[in-house]
Amino acid sequence: MAGIELTGLSTVYPNGVRAVDDLDLSITDGEFFALLGPSGCGKTTLLRTIAGLEQSSSGTVLIDGADVTRLEAGRRQVAMVFQDYALFPHMTVAENIAYPLRVRRATKQARQEAAVRTSGGLGLGTLLERRPAQLSGGQQQRVALARAIAMEAEVLLLDEPLSNLDARLRLEARTFLKRLQRELGMTTVFVTHDQAEALALADRIAVMSEGRIRQVGSPKEVFQRPRDTFVANFIGSTPMNLLSAIVREGHLEVAGTRLPLPPGVQLTDDTAVTVGIRPEYLRVDGGGEGITGTVSIVENLGVTSLVTLECPDGALVGLTVPEQDEPAVGTTLTAAPEPGRLLLYDGETGVLLG
Ligand code: ADP
Ligand code: MG
Repeated sequence: MAGIELTGLSTVYPNGVRAVDDLDLSITDGEFFALLGPSGCGKTTLLRTIAGLEQSSSGTVLIDGADVTRLEAGRRQVAMVFQDYALFPHMTVAENIAYPLRVRRATKQARQEAAVRTSGGLGLGTLLERRPAQLSGGQQQRVALARAIAMEAEVLLLDEPLSNLDARLRLEARTFLKRLQRELGMTTVFVTHDQAEALALADRIAVMSEGRIRQVGSPKEVFQRPRDTFVANFIGSTPMNLLSAIVREGHLEVAGTRLPLPPGVQLTDDTAVTVGIRPEYLRVDGGGEGITGTVSIVENLGVTSLVTLECPDGALVGLTVPEQDEPAVGTTLTAAPEPGRLLLYDGETGVLLG
């Protein structure tokens, strides 16, 4: 089985774009690993560099302990599923799935067996004679997955595998992908720009921006303790509230209110910080000490509602508690951060303190 070890890896395109920039990353054998970041941050390039489809400019790629940096793509024990699936339109589903074996000159019988074996678990058993144009987006995606699995590679690379599916199908495919990865136990690197997808699927997540990695951690770590304000803003279905604050007499002065400093954090007076509060940890039921503002937007989420408050230093988003009546727009409310859930970031660098 195979782990992946990237050291000082850079990939620079001929036009000078440094798409992967001196990146270190260690992915464990059997791990379901997400590369998460905004469009253009270098996710696809990094995946293609691992696969050997792009040549790195410097640094090394180890797969299963072996240095494959200069090894051509076909010899890397890596299967990649492309964002657009890249199926061969003139081939049937069975031929598409068995294609990697044809390249390896497997017999017709071995190819047929592989197609039947891989397609069964993916619900493609009755579609083997169809062509890609006769399939739905979800079915095409499963054919691309089946083809990658038929390669029996050590590493599976998936570039935004769910992004071409509509919202409903995406949720189903997400659960399906998770189960499949558990069953196969293949080291899987999965690229997405969708933080919810990364949180739901991955054992660990690397958050990328501008060719570099900002943070690596479990979904829980990345969600609960984003290492800087970029990650804080990027992770979460509603972005984290980030407010400027000043330390005064061992307290935080923020949005016209005083809040206690988080336990264990010691800062001298007049230090400028950014306070991070997840909307999920900001109750707007009027209880507790907090920041007062005027309700401007209420969005019903079902059990709770998302409430936007206009406060002295900008807007603040919080949640009602279950059973609480929806507050009316224009009313004044106090939003109370859950004790112990405040995060403090350096006012200049945006790096997490404490
Ligand atoms: P992502 O997958 O995160 O959207 P990409 O890896 O596709 O990001 O792109 C990273 C950066 O590299 C972007 O600035 C993009 O414009 C640039 N880029 C991607 N492919 C090429 C290429 N073939 N030639 C030149 N620049 C490229
Ligand atoms: Mg991409």
